[in-house]
Amino acid sequence: MRLANKVALVTGAGSGIGAATAKRFAGEGALVVVTDINGESAQAVAAGINSSGGRAEARTQDVTDEALWSTLVADIVAAHGSLDVLVNNAGIAITANVENTTLEDWRRTQAINGESVFMGTRAAVAVMKVRGGSIINISSIEGIVGEPNATAYNYSKGGVRIFTKSAALHCAAQGYPIRVNSVHPGFILTPMVEAGIAALPADEVQAQYQRLIGEIPLGVMGEPIDIANGCLFLASDESRYMTGAELVIDGGYTCH
Ligand code: NAP
Repeated sequence: MRLANKVALVTGAGSGIGAATAKRFAGEGALVVVTDINGESAQAVAAGINSSGGRAEARTQDVTDEALWSTLVADIVAAHGSLDVLVNNAGIAITANVENTTLEDWRRTQAINGESVFMGTRAAVAVMKVRGGSIINISSIEGIVGEPNATAYNYSKGGVRIFTKSAALHCAAQGYPIRVNSVHPGFILTPMVEAGIAALPADEVQAQYQRLIGEIPLGVMGEPIDIANGCLFLASDESRYMTGAELVIDGGYTCH
């Protein structure tokens, strides 16, 4: 029960890493607010948690909606007394390079992957500043290293990485008992990555997959639970001396 008595909000939790994180948190005693732009998938994840003895509730949330951030966080505090953990997880990945990325796709990526992390962090700090809390921003290995076909994604995730340090420093300087850290997953088998693989020409899938695996020192892709376990550590008081840090979980990908 590493998260006993904690209330956690996980965005984009209807799928992949967010769903695994919500389930892992609930298994350790947290009450989890599962949000997603797809309200049905959020409902399904929350129902699964509740039916296995955990505590969860679902909300439909588009993380780019500024007004909704304030009301959602206020509702959670009114209903449950606090918000102790926020995982800014919702994100999208568009496969395009600097020459063929449209401005529309660029802006959509920054809004969902970047601006939402700012708005979520700001809303959480407002309610966590007295009681304290842990804010976990899901960046990526692609917030650390470049990828030619992820130009907008690289920009957004690099922004999340350094924004996290700014917010961590601000909270520390103000004496708020709030920690803010980023998580950097490598290649994790989720619908996001499966969609990327599916978008490849059929005759390239096998070769690209083998190339990718060949670049991962541990030789396998990660699973959502691998990231959920890292988030659990950052959410719990076990990481009380960590703020502004980058937790890389990538099978060794960024070592070389
Ligand atoms: P995923 O399975 O596609 O899950 C992302 C979830 O976010 C989906 O349920 C998606 O809903 C939701 N979402 C999209 N736009 C949203 C919005 N505007 N508001 C609220 N929710 C929204 O992807 P994932 O792989 O678990 O990725 C989770 C996070 O990890 C992302 O930030 C991603 O960049 C990061 N990450 C993933 C990997 C990886 O290898 N998988 C690696 C590094 C970092 P819909 O499906 O309805 O769009």
